[in-house]
Amino acid sequence: MIVDAHGRRFRNLRVSLTAACNYACTYCVPNGRRLQPAVAELSAEELLRAVRLLIESAGIEKLRITGGEPLLSAKFDAFLPAVMQLPLNDVSVTTNGQLLPRKAELIAAAGLKRINVSLDTLNPLRFRAIARSGDLATVLEGIELMRDAGLKVKVNMVPLKSANVDQILPMLEYCLERNIELRFIELMNMGHLKHGSAYGRDFFGMDDILALIGRRYEFARTDAAYDSTSVRYEIPNRGVFGIIANESEPFCASCTRLRLSSNGYLYGCLSSSKRHAIVDALQLPDDQARTVLQNRLMGALADKQTLQFKGEVTVMKFIGG
Ligand code: SAM
Repeated sequence: MIVDAHGRRFRNLRVSLTAACNYACTYCVPNGRRLQPAVAELSAEELLRAVRLLIESAGIEKLRITGGEPLLSAKFDAFLPAVMQLPLNDVSVTTNGQLLPRKAELIAAAGLKRINVSLDTLNPLRFRAIARSGDLATVLEGIELMRDAGLKVKVNMVPLKSANVDQILPMLEYCLERNIELRFIELMNMGHLKHGSAYGRDFFGMDDILALIGRRYEFARTDAAYDSTSVRYEIPNRGVFGIIANESEPFCASCTRLRLSSNGYLYGCLSSSKRHAIVDALQLPDDQARTVLQNRLMGALADKQTLQFKGEVTVMKFIGG
């Protein structure tokens, strides 16, 4: 097991199935053009082998399937049932939900227990303005189908001062009514936001979110897993919400995340654009591949920031957040 001087090791792996997305969210892509697959994306079989080798080499226990938009990838249908058979404590999917109604049966049949749906507003027009694509009703239908199938659903919302802050309370009420944990993700200073004024204009952080929620609800801080990214709050007799406070309460000191991009690069830190190719390792027999991977994993672990999320020009779409 590879452990750094701060006691951190890789425990959680996020695999991006494809860089392609069917949305073009304003805070994720600059020009409104939908994202395309990366050049030379790995096949479902190659990604699956990479995951298995990373379980063995890095001690990965939890896996999140992400993108781009993972449900858009033709690999999803084979990849999900196959990873469910690997020795992992937890498998989850992060999706924008647009294709959930089409994939609901497959997801339920694969035995997935948890799913995170990204949703920034309950207003259909505002939805189109932020995502620059898609249809709100379809996402809401997808959420209901997941709940009907018995999955634990979390909803991720990125509050943006200029676009959806007035949606924070309606979104919270919607989630509390359905026993869904809503998680507010503080806007990260990534990709095109690193340049220009949009980040400063739109950032709406933890203190502001809590003050706004405090106008309607009483809440108290509650438990979160030690390497969880979210700070969690309980509203007595109603439910729980969380804030992923990259800026206000950085979680770098206990970060256990490793990311694998759809074209075969490991990323040890969202705040670093350093990456470590593993395509060559995937050409080797298992024992040799594990040796090469150990080396790449050491490099990726050394990329982690010690204290604070700084942001990078790395675009979230490639590595799935
Ligand atoms: N397409 C999938 C989805 O929508 O969940 C997975 C990939 S998407 C990049 C993962 C998450 O990152 C989404 O919840 C999205 O809102 C969030 N995200 C993208 N850019 C962000 C940024 N600059 N700051 C904070 N969250 C961001």
